[in-house]
Amino acid sequence: AKGVTRSFKVGAGLFNRKRTLHAVNGIDLTIRKGEVLGIVGESGCGKSTLARILLGLLPPSTGTISFQGRELSTLDRRAVARQVQPVFQDPYSSLNPRRRIASIVSFPLDVHGIGTAAERRRRALEMMDLVGLPARFADRYPSELSGGQRQRVAIARALVMKPEIVVCDEPTSALDVSVQSQILNLLLDLRRELNLTYVFISHNLAVVEHIATRVAVMYLGRVVELAETAELFANPRHPYTTALLASILTPEPGLGIPETGLGLAFPDPLNPPSGCVFHPRCPNAFGPCATVVPRALGQHPAGLVACHLHDPDYNTANNQGNRPS
Ligand code: SF4
Ligand code: MG
Repeated sequence: AKGVTRSFKVGAGLFNRKRTLHAVNGIDLTIRKGEVLGIVGESGCGKSTLARILLGLLPPSTGTISFQGRELSTLDRRAVARQVQPVFQDPYSSLNPRRRIASIVSFPLDVHGIGTAAERRRRALEMMDLVGLPARFADRYPSELSGGQRQRVAIARALVMKPEIVVCDEPTSALDVSVQSQILNLLLDLRRELNLTYVFISHNLAVVEHIATRVAVMYLGRVVELAETAELFANPRHPYTTALLASILTPEPGLGIPETGLGLAFPDPLNPPSGCVFHPRCPNAFGPCATVVPRALGQHPAGLVACHLHDPDYNTANNQGNRPS
C-alpha cells in the first residue's frame, strides 16, 4: 500500500454539514510474502477499513495498493479475490444460514465459475478436511455447528480459491477463549502447510503477539509504529504502543476495547486533534506535538515510528517535556 487514504462523507454536526472522515490516512504498507502482519489498535482506528481496502471491497480515496508489483486498482475484483481472501470476525453472520456447509465452502468457486459441480464439492470436502471438519458436516447447516466449527467453515471457504494472502479481521474475537487458541493454532498450521501470508487484524495484543511476525499499530487512521513482533513487544517506541502494552497486564474481560490506561477517551474521528493526533492522550507530549504532524521515521518497510520523541529535529536536549526513559 502506498499513501493510502480512505475518507467518507459523513452527514453529521451543525446544520448536518457533510464532513470528511479520514478513516485511513496516508498509509504505506508493503506486505511481505510469508509474513503474518498483525494490525492492532482500538475500535475506530481504521483497521477494518484498511482490511476492506486490502480485500478490494473498498477503493482507496487516494494512494495505491500493490501486490506482486501490480496495482490492485488495475485488477478487477475477481482477480483480487483469487489472491486475497477474507476471514471475518463473526462466523454467525458471514455464513449464509440457508446453505449447506459444502456449498458455503465451494461458493467462491461457483462465483468464479471454476470446475464442475462434482469437482467443486470434492474441493470443498478437501478444504473441510484441511481445517479439521469431518465430512459428515458437508450437508449440515451453519446453525447445527458450534462457533469454532463455523469459523473453520469460514477459513475453508477462504482457502478454496488458493489465495496468496488471507486477511483475517478479528477472526477469533467472537469465540470462547479455549476455542480461540484452537483457531489461532489452525491458522498457524495452515500457514506453514500452504505457505500463506496473513494480514491479521485484532484489538487483542496477546493474540497478535502469538500469531504475528510483524505488527503495525494504528491510531486514528494512521500507522504510528511498525516493527517485528519481538522487537515491538520488547522495545515499544511509540507512547501509544507503550500504553497498549500496559493494557495487556490489566485485561478487562468482556470489553471489546482494551483499557489503555490513557486518561482521555478516544477522540472524535470526525474532528481529529491537530499535530500529532495522539497528543491529547499522550503522557510524553512536548513542544511540537500539538501543532506538527510527526513524520514516519525508520527503515520503511521493515519498521517505522511516527513520533517527535524519535525525531532528531525535535528531540534535543533543549526541548522541554518528558523524555522516554
Ligand atoms: Fe506523544 Fe508527541 Fe510522540 Fe505524539 S509526537 S506520540 S504527542 S510524544
Ligand atoms: Mg473492526
